[in-house]
Amino acid sequence: MCFLGCDEEETEVGRQQARGSCPYCGGKVHAVDVGSKLRLCFLPICFRFKRKYFCTLCSKRLVLYDY
Ligand SMILES: [Zn+2]
Repeated sequence: MCFLGCDEEETEVGRQQARGSCPYCGGKVHAVDVGSKLRLCFLPICFRFKRKYFCTLCSKRLVLYDY
């Protein structure tokens, strides 16, 4: 677990096409895996992954619940 993040840095670590289509324009959806680096003041760096979804056509941020 990470607490007290002093600085957060996000790096794209992967990108793949996701199932389904954009509810706004019907475009293709990309799943982007983002590695989030938390630099803590007094602890070693903590790394965690997030997955974000974006429409490739209208660039809207999409929220998919697939779990
Ligand atoms: Zn779209």
